[in-house]
Amino acid sequence: VTEGSTTFEAPVQDENTAFPPGTAPVFYNTRMEFNRDMTVLLLSCITPENYLDAMAATGVRGLRVAHETGTPAVINDRDPAAVAVIEENAKAIGGDIRVTCDDANRLMCTERFDTIDLDPFGTPAPFLDAASRAAKRYLFVTATDTAPLCGAHLKAGMRRYFATPRNTEYHAEVGLRMMMGAMAKELVKYDRGMEPVLSFAKNHYFRSHVRVLGRVTAAETTMDQIGFVMQCPKCLYRAEQKGSLLPQSHTCPYCGAETEAVGPLWMGPLQDKGTIAALLEKLPAMQFGTAKQMDKLLRQLIVEPETCTFYDYHVISRNLRVSPPAMDEMIAGLNDLGHYTVRTHFAVTGIKTTAPLHVIEEWIRAW
Ligand code: SAM
Repeated sequence: VTEGSTTFEAPVQDENTAFPPGTAPVFYNTRMEFNRDMTVLLLSCITPENYLDAMAATGVRGLRVAHETGTPAVINDRDPAAVAVIEENAKAIGGDIRVTCDDANRLMCTERFDTIDLDPFGTPAPFLDAASRAAKRYLFVTATDTAPLCGAHLKAGMRRYFATPRNTEYHAEVGLRMMMGAMAKELVKYDRGMEPVLSFAKNHYFRSHVRVLGRVTAAETTMDQIGFVMQCPKCLYRAEQKGSLLPQSHTCPYCGAETEAVGPLWMGPLQDKGTIAALLEKLPAMQFGTAKQMDKLLRQLIVEPETCTFYDYHVISRNLRVSPPAMDEMIAGLNDLGHYTVRTHFAVTGIKTTAPLHVIEEWIRAW
């Protein structure tokens, strides 16, 4: 298989007969190429001292990082069958690669790495504690347990992330912010803080790349970014609260109901926009199978305002019992009224806007 400019051996299955991809003896999912492309692009910009691919399967991620960015890589999996594949691949590709066969938590308890990447089956929750201590400068995390994170499996989400997601129409953003809240929680207990560099939701997973800062003041600033979305149970109204682990009771100004807390969540920025600009500049010079999609997503992320939720204009229209307006016209209309509004990568019918709900509703009604 070739991804980016790296060619490696992987047990490729016929997707129609062998799904999910986890049923292969060694896991390889072509649908994650985009995720890996983004990591390689980011690492080519931040040039870390070294990189741990803590759960590597075929090793594709770490192999690509070593080969395409020149970063020294440690590639680990606890499964000896996976390690045999990684070793073969590492031999063929060459470069500064060390292959280990260990439990990821045990490895991260015995050694520290500049950048650590967690790409587990499902939830990263069991690995966040050790990774929070072992990552010197960067921590990258994928979660594929979208149902617990989005509120569809409420109890599982509460157990794994110690937060209440609730199933709202902006659940994709809640899922990402809940995963990032869990990352922040593990870091601050070691007096460390985090600054997100690149974070997004896609199809069946969430992905966040954060800078780790080893100072008490950074841990305190990180705590200030933890908070809640206070959601009205009767209408689409919501308000953002941050800087406290206690949600403040709040009455919906539209229908008078007591709002319900969603969280605790990471309520801070999702991106470092300077880095996103650098990625956009670097992208054309690199070789990626998903370059077009990468460009599209990065262009969306760089303009999204740092609101912690988004509105689905189809849901608002349905509530008002009117047909949804033309999306581009609505976005232009809200911008003309002085409310910064853009499409969001979280949902095709989602808008990120600084406009309050009643302004969006009035605009849709008048259309
Ligand atoms: N990063 C890979 C990629 O991009 O193709 C996919 C990794 S796959 C989702 C998860 C891998 O984690 C599996 O190969 C599994 O053997 C490994 N794994 C699960 N638990 C582990 C643990 N506690 N320590 C180390 N590896 C583990």
